[in-house]
Amino acid sequence: MESTSAASRLSPTQERTLDLLRRPSEPVIFDSDQIAAFTSNFSDALDHLVERLDAIGKSLFISKGMLTSVLGCETHFQQKEEFRWNVTTAIGTVAHRAIELLTGWRGAPYPATLVDESIARLSEKPNSLGDFLTSMTDGDRADLINAATDRVVKFTESFPPLQQSFIPVAESSIRWPESGTIVLGGKSDLTLGRAEHGESRKVIIDLKTGGAWPNHMDELRFYALLETLRTGIPPRLIAGFYLDAGRAVPEHVTIETLGAAMRRTLDGIGRAVELLEGRQAVRRPQSSCRWCPLSGECEEGRSWLEEQLAERD
Ligand code: SF4
Repeated sequence: MESTSAASRLSPTQERTLDLLRRPSEPVIFDSDQIAAFTSNFSDALDHLVERLDAIGKSLFISKGMLTSVLGCETHFQQKEEFRWNVTTAIGTVAHRAIELLTGWRGAPYPATLVDESIARLSEKPNSLGDFLTSMTDGDRADLINAATDRVVKFTESFPPLQQSFIPVAESSIRWPESGTIVLGGKSDLTLGRAEHGESRKVIIDLKTGGAWPNHMDELRFYALLETLRTGIPPRLIAGFYLDAGRAVPEHVTIETLGAAMRRTLDGIGRAVELLEGRQAVRRPQSSCRWCPLSGECEEGRSWLEEQLAERD
């Protein structure tokens, strides 16, 4: 992001965000041979895992959530929970679509106008979210509008106005490879900038409500890895943006960052492959015990939750 002529009219929070995301004076350019070797190493390691899955006739889609889950408690990971749209699960998608509309909207729309338009457009889609939005009760609609508007308001308070020159894209999908036995994919909440003549300029941002968790940065590094595999040019910066606090937590992308993402991703895929091959899942009590559907019958999880309660008292 470059400086804006309107910088003097920004709020202190917006100025702080702009400073954190601003493009440095020195261009960020990765060694192309190093990136080519990196991609080749990753592809070779993935090929071995593909061979093992092909041998048992299985396939995997690797998302940031899947990796966090399999690297956490494997028993919980194996518990197939049917995803259902409700007000809570729809807030992020509705708010991000509203922010996407904001990037192309002329003038200064009210956040609630953007949210209304977001719901209207998402409702038109022939998918499960469209079905939920068209059939939700008036009470759910009111809750959804209020919660999504709150996110959009916080976003506009925290970010400088998204000029077209920032090349903002909301809900940008990435897949790599396009198809196959193992496909890695995801959708970043917001990207700014794009690679130019081999220079890394893209910034990948995940918008968060609530506090920061260690896995947030791991998940952003996964997106940096995906971008590198897809384009051959890493993003220059990844950042979690915490809307409630109006605070960005950025990290410069380096070859070490990408190496860490590669190792974590291969570790997670390797564990998922082992489980599909029949290895016994390992229970690892952790924060997910709080919402795990097995917590009632899981001794390890119950003990862990009791310890947490005791520590809090
Ligand atoms: S309660 Fe905790 S330890 Fe037990 S299966 Fe669920 S997440 Fe794993």
